Amino acid sequence: MASKEETFERKTAEKGCSCCSSDSEKEDCCTPEEDHADESANDTPANAYTFQVEGMDCPSCASTLQKGVYRLPGVQEAKVQYATGSMQVSTDGTLAPAMIKQTVQRLGYNTELPAADTGEAYNIYGMDCGSCAATVSKHFAQLDGVRDVQVQFATGKMTLDHELSQERVKGEVRRLGFEAAPVTERRSSSSQPETSPLRGMTNTIISGVLLLAGIASSLTPAPAIISIILYLSVIVVGGYKPAKSAYFAIKSRSLDMNVLMMGAAIGAPLIGEYFEGALVVWLFALGNALQQYSVAKTRKSISHLMDLAPAEAWVKAGDTWVRRPVEDVGLGQTMLIKPGEKIPLDGTIREGNSMVDQSPITGESLPIDKASGDKVYAGTLNDFGSLEVEVTARPEDTTLARIIHLVEEAQGQQAPTQSFVDRFAAVYTPIVFAAAIAVIVVPPVIGIGGWADWVYRGLALLVVACPCALVISTPVAIVSAIGNAAKQGVLIKGGAFLEAAGTLNALAFDKTGTLTEGKPVVEKVYAADGDADRLLSIASTLEAYSNHPIARAITAHAGEQNVSSFEGVNFYAEPGKGVSGTIEGKAYAAGKPEWLEEQGVELKHVEEEIQQLQNEGMTVVLIGDGESVLGYVGVADKIRPVSSEAVQSLHKNGIRELTVLTGDNEGTAAKIAGQANIDRYMAGLLPEDKAKAVRTLQQEGRRVGMVGDGINDAPALATADIGIAMGGAGADTSMEAADIVLMADNLEKLPYTIRLSRKALRIIKQNIWFAVLIKVAALALIVPDMLTLWMAVLSDTGAALLVVANSLRLFRLRG
Ligand code: ADP
Ligand code: MG
Repeated sequence: MASKEETFERKTAEKGCSCCSSDSEKEDCCTPEEDHADESANDTPANAYTFQVEGMDCPSCASTLQKGVYRLPGVQEAKVQYATGSMQVSTDGTLAPAMIKQTVQRLGYNTELPAADTGEAYNIYGMDCGSCAATVSKHFAQLDGVRDVQVQFATGKMTLDHELSQERVKGEVRRLGFEAAPVTERRSSSSQPETSPLRGMTNTIISGVLLLAGIASSLTPAPAIISIILYLSVIVVGGYKPAKSAYFAIKSRSLDMNVLMMGAAIGAPLIGEYFEGALVVWLFALGNALQQYSVAKTRKSISHLMDLAPAEAWVKAGDTWVRRPVEDVGLGQTMLIKPGEKIPLDGTIREGNSMVDQSPITGESLPIDKASGDKVYAGTLNDFGSLEVEVTARPEDTTLARIIHLVEEAQGQQAPTQSFVDRFAAVYTPIVFAAAIAVIVVPPVIGIGGWADWVYRGLALLVVACPCALVISTPVAIVSAIGNAAKQGVLIKGGAFLEAAGTLNALAFDKTGTLTEGKPVVEKVYAADGDADRLLSIASTLEAYSNHPIARAITAHAGEQNVSSFEGVNFYAEPGKGVSGTIEGKAYAAGKPEWLEEQGVELKHVEEEIQQLQNEGMTVVLIGDGESVLGYVGVADKIRPVSSEAVQSLHKNGIRELTVLTGDNEGTAAKIAGQANIDRYMAGLLPEDKAKAVRTLQQEGRRVGMVGDGINDAPALATADIGIAMGGAGADTSMEAADIVLMADNLEKLPYTIRLSRKALRIIKQNIWFAVLIKVAALALIVPDMLTLWMAVLSDTGAALLVVANSLRLFRLRG
């Protein structure tokens, strides 16, 4: 420690940067965790974190920060890059990232905990039921130093806001009978510890063999004590792990299924039912092992998505290309992607052209033409051309990485039915538990029948009180469906949206860029004074300040015609209307005819022509100077072939209420709607009117999904029951604005999305009904005294398995 301290002091004294000369940095930031760190520094694995640091405004700040963090006990390496504002810290695992953050702040800079932070999220292995998740979560909630904890059974993840060391977290989880490993954003998903099916099964297999031996021996004239011993050893071997979990569940005051099952398993031999006790334990263990195995497979499939992107890239180094791990490739570097290779990082093509198969990210069936200036995404496949690509994202920030992060978050989100089920289980279990105790105690005490009979019935009831099948009826279905969608290039942001999408019966579409290509082209230029070049010049000067697809069409056309722009001032783009500006001291406007009319432009003499062009499906951009029309530009946008196919497929899936919403004129709206096979449209809408139109549809009693590009449709997307944005791979904005994002820039996967969510809703309902009815049946059997312990176990563990199997159908639905 002392030597670390010295170097730090010397370095700080040497540098003389104003921004870092505050005294705060010299403050002692060694933490009370010091001793602890020294103990375990040698035998714990290294952990790496990347922080983004704000407020470093000179290179020597970087070295101060580096030294300051390096001083922290448990830090093995700290590297701060001034240029990128990032800091990489590797620790021996004893230091919580929250401590690093605190230190950074103490040194006078600002930082956030790394997103999907490695120290805060853990994979928990071995949780076989929702109630185990509750046990883990309750246990951590009561520990000192834990501010917040969330454990999700379906994703197998725990997120912690805490001050504990990683070793401590792992230790606590181990005590509960599970294994924990930090979720690292690194690509080594395959090297993460995993519960191999066999490892989880060993106890089940041994106890199964013992059970068979016991049955065999009971069929022979061998003394009964032999089979009793065999049955007891089944209970010990198979029940060891659940008993441990039960112990901790009781300690953290949760009545989970381990507690209930162990109650039955211990109670049965006490009343002489050795065989039944052994059977309960074995069926329970078998069910859990199978269930865990299949759920783990689903969980893992998402982290495997990360493996889509190669771990190494060819990077330009001087005149040659060298092979580098993607972690070492910097932003702005040039990488080479050979034909037939997968693209390792997001980037912009600088050289070459090719076709790229983007299906891993967008689900699109056709490869896309790519040329210089186009974006390419990590994980997609370069077809035939060699590409030189400028890197635009670090491995943890690629579109692919963001998808995975979003999906993992989405899978953890509770759906409405799930919280209903949890609430139900929270009432059901204690009631049946109390009934079981009453059945055991009351009748024998008041003298009806003997103890053994009533205890047996009570134990069966204990098992029936397990809500296992019910608790997992929803989350596994949701994880499967969201995971399947991700593989098809569809991001569903949570179970609630999945369920809501399953209930939609109407869809509203934005026209420009959604149904149409969104790349309008200029088809006609008319100048009142005959000088078409001057008109185009004015139009393109104004439109250069707008991002609207129409604006891009006009500026591109002017470029092709070699028409130069004027100098202008006071530009203003009015959303959904047009643009205005001052050129050579005179005010001009270009936009929709109604808008120019509002500004006092006299339209009478061109009205007929405008109408004519609009009826042909053109959008007319009128150019005026505040009094008279100088001329107009007619632009036209083509419908995407995929749009009409998607609409047809939606019709087939029973969604018939389709509406086009557009700011464009009637004529164009009618024409595009007709081509897309949609019979309703609302034209001339301002962006805020689109939201009103959605509300109108809702008031007509529909559950409306709004499909748009997410840029000027944000209010409508937010108003709809479900907002569906497309083009997620290209624009971050649409990823944020919507509840469901189609990664492709077209509607190809929309019908699939609707089908998937409807099926998910159906399967969830089936699961809930099935789980409830099986319990009701088991409870009913108790009256004619036909409920045996093994039936009770089947009604729980067996039902849970069927529920899981049913849910996994969602994972296999084809796109
Ligand atoms: P859409 O619903 O088709 O996406 P918008 O709401 O973006 O349409 O725009 C509606 C109409 O406003 C366009 O059809 C066009 O007539 C006019 N407009 C909007 N922005 C511009 C612009 N930058 N230049 C010219 N016209 C524009
Ligand atoms: Mg639009």
